[in-house]
Amino acid sequence: MSDIIKLLPDAIANQIAAGEVVQRPASVVKELLENAIDATSNYICVVVKDAGKTLVQVTDNGKGMTRGDARMCFERHATSKINSAEDIYRIRTLGFRGEALASIAAVAQVSMITRRHEDELGTQIITESSEFKGSEPVAAEPGTSISVKNLFYNIPARRNFLKSNTVEMHHITEEFIRVALAHPDLTFELYQNDTQAYFLPPGKLSTRIIDLFGEDSRGQILSCHEETPHVKVKGYIGKPEYAKRTRGQQYFFINQRFIKNNYLNHAVMSAYEGLLPEDCFPFYVLFIEIDPRHIDVNVHPTKTEIKLEDERTVYAIIRAAVKRSLGTNLITPAADEDEDNGFPIFSLVDAENKPAPARSNSASEYRQFKSAASLQGSNLRNWESLYSNTDEKSHFDFDEDKKTEQPETELTFQSAANRIPASGSLFQENLHGNSESPFQIHSTYIATQVKSGLMIIDQQAAHERILFEQYSLALEKRSGVSQQLLFPQTVMLSPADITLVQELKDEIHALGFDFTVFGKNTVMINGVPADIKGGNETEILEGLIEQYKYNQSKLALSRRDNIARSIARRMAVKKGQKLNPAEMSALIDRLFACINSNYSPDGHRSFYILELNKIADFFRQ
Ligand code: ADP
Ligand code: MG
Repeated sequence: MSDIIKLLPDAIANQIAAGEVVQRPASVVKELLENAIDATSNYICVVVKDAGKTLVQVTDNGKGMTRGDARMCFERHATSKINSAEDIYRIRTLGFRGEALASIAAVAQVSMITRRHEDELGTQIITESSEFKGSEPVAAEPGTSISVKNLFYNIPARRNFLKSNTVEMHHITEEFIRVALAHPDLTFELYQNDTQAYFLPPGKLSTRIIDLFGEDSRGQILSCHEETPHVKVKGYIGKPEYAKRTRGQQYFFINQRFIKNNYLNHAVMSAYEGLLPEDCFPFYVLFIEIDPRHIDVNVHPTKTEIKLEDERTVYAIIRAAVKRSLGTNLITPAADEDEDNGFPIFSLVDAENKPAPARSNSASEYRQFKSAASLQGSNLRNWESLYSNTDEKSHFDFDEDKKTEQPETELTFQSAANRIPASGSLFQENLHGNSESPFQIHSTYIATQVKSGLMIIDQQAAHERILFEQYSLALEKRSGVSQQLLFPQTVMLSPADITLVQELKDEIHALGFDFTVFGKNTVMINGVPADIKGGNETEILEGLIEQYKYNQSKLALSRRDNIARSIARRMAVKKGQKLNPAEMSALIDRLFACINSNYSPDGHRSFYILELNKIADFFRQ
């Protein structure tokens, strides 16, 4: 019997291995870029033709290779980056498998010129389908330039699998962006068919982000960082209004290596909970640093998946970092905006206590200060400071009649107002001084003078935010107060809705509803949250369920978040509803006691400040 097992020839083995490493031109770009970075270059230029199908060329000014190494580097498992098996667990370089160049050479025509800084002459190597075609000394700049031509020319089936140039170019750009983000200190260029697509000078990460994503990202990013003894998180996240309809601009790097990780992505998304418009994805570029011994990059050949030893801790740290950044940074000048807008804005603190923040062009600092001051009487005084120094009669005053005008529809501010301090001082007419009373514009917005100009509040967005936070808290603490009805009300629901109500029973009870289910389609309401006006209990419960179902079909929300949003949406004042001055003041106070006063739960701005200098500009023509 003759033996039938034989070793595959190298060329075929390489082609098979190449299937894992080289899927498309973008994989070549990625591998060559990583090699250039590992070679400690500080300038890297990528040239692609035909979306990389005819040419991918990467030129660097890194350390170059000797003649011997230049020949060696195309062999499988040829690497200068690890010496022993343990090294794999201490990886600091991007490559380490010694597979990339061998794989690329197996499926293309490659020409490489390389020169070490200390050598006088460089080396040129030419290969085709893994076959060595020649090597000769050449005059060359220090560094390495590798040209990969006609990818998959020798495997027509794979070449035919390549997508349109637009799609392939998109993948290339994505790889380029990932590497460029991870190394803002290096210069990068990308040429696409002789046209310069990117020129990225070295600089700060924030500048790199703007260079890559365009001017409209300026002012839209917030810095984010957190440090614990084992994990460091730093980078930028986008403001909620900068969120996009597509998932595109989200980047995680672990030890400067781009990775994809749904679990960690979830950590970021959950930090944005209640701040994003429907179906939107926030921008983020976050760098995580962990001791390489606690990660395993050896999981997937293309190395974008990574195994972390302690994912839960990293999750918690990322979530906290993003939350903090959103909480403390919103609307304050972002990352790169160093210019002071030169206008005195809020003085947040009594002059004799603490200095007012140097730059405070937003109410968020006010809010931070205020939330720290808790909901007690003191915050009312702080709120007043927003108005102080505006003794002179307001331009926006309205006359006494208006102030006493009664709203057409009677409206109670549910617990938004009632929960406030025992003193009930929210409703004192003179809270903000008579001259500063807010007024309503078209029964939709509330306007009020603040030190920096005119603040305009979207009443519906603001009230939704207030109620959302209130009910989220009730759900979390199970603290919703129930008021028993004198005459229990019955609501008829479809069997599907009854099932849903039963599923959500705990949460609905936590809000303050007290009900029992009878038979297939009847719910008897015995008690409702203390702030619901008598008479519309059934409407609120039905509305809550409707809204819950609607949200469920549109958004991936947690159950609690959905319930809090749904009830907030149902109970909030709507556009077109008249409010009396006391209600307006209460709304403003409650808004700025919120954790995130800037946005409604679905990400709409809740207020805007028209600054005095902008107003002055109108008249300066
Ligand atoms: P790996 O990066 O996993 O080591 P590669 O096949 O990508 O494997 O590269 C093989 C070797 O070739 C590297 O270890 C390195 O020594 C050398 N090399 C590749 N590209 C460059 C470059 N641009 N500059 C200097 N050396 C390089
Ligand atoms: Mg490599």
